[in-house]
Amino acid sequence: MPADALAFYRPFHFSPYEEWGIYIMADRLLHHCMMIYRAFAGKLYAFNLETLISYVLFEVFHHEFFHHLVESAATTIEILSIGFGKPKAIYVDYLKDEYTHETGLGEHPHNPLEEALANAYAYNSFSFLSRVKVGYRILLVKLYQAMLQKSWPYEASGYNSAIHYIGPGYVSGAAQLLAMLVCSHSLDPYSARLLAKNVLLSGHTAFAQKPEIPTYFVGSVGVLAEFDKLVPAPNETYTSLFWPGDTAAIDQYLQDRRQQEKKSKPSKEARKRTTP
Ligand SMILES: [Zn+2]
Repeated sequence: MPADALAFYRPFHFSPYEEWGIYIMADRLLHHCMMIYRAFAGKLYAFNLETLISYVLFEVFHHEFFHHLVESAATTIEILSIGFGKPKAIYVDYLKDEYTHETGLGEHPHNPLEEALANAYAYNSFSFLSRVKVGYRILLVKLYQAMLQKSWPYEASGYNSAIHYIGPGYVSGAAQLLAMLVCSHSLDPYSARLLAKNVLLSGHTAFAQKPEIPTYFVGSVGVLAEFDKLVPAPNETYTSLFWPGDTAAIDQYLQDRRQQEKKSKPSKEARKRTTP
């Protein structure tokens, strides 16, 4: 199921303003994870139900967080436009697809591009995690990312184009989204990419950082109690993929194995000497 079937982002542009934030439908998320788990009939060896829910929660949160990045970027431009004496309703105009009337922009082939990028942003957030941590958790990240890539083609329009924006492709997609926000086809592509990479639509764009963004779990009392048992530290789980299982022994095993593999590989010098 696409992330937006399990959660949604409520923008701060619309009243009641204090209700903005990320809403996670705990009952749907739980049901979705149980369905996947049962479908594999115990053959999903790498994941137990707790770890599967943690990964789905991390993915869904980051998808919705991307929608916050887009609203923050639009608001930044709105504030600047007031400074120039020409206030513009950047976000609302963008939501109304005003950019499609701009010559040279039109409808994007991966429309809605924001959904493709949100899926890709969630995918890329797993990759970022694997650059800063090692061990069993990261093996699961690779597996989970492979599952995501296989599931995208079954999702709706936009969502199913995420594959174009994973890895370095993200910057190009974010630059195209910036052109939609400012509703202009005359944005210099190199400058737009520079902005997309470093200023707007990077992690720094967010007005509220991940741990601080208002996040609500929605569901019946019974479902929320069950959810609490499976995900005892939700904030840490959706921001940094924490889960309480102790993986120290298997992490040590993986590190030892990596060292052994390094030792058993002939060095570059040795390979050069043996090459005729
Ligand atoms: Zn979405």
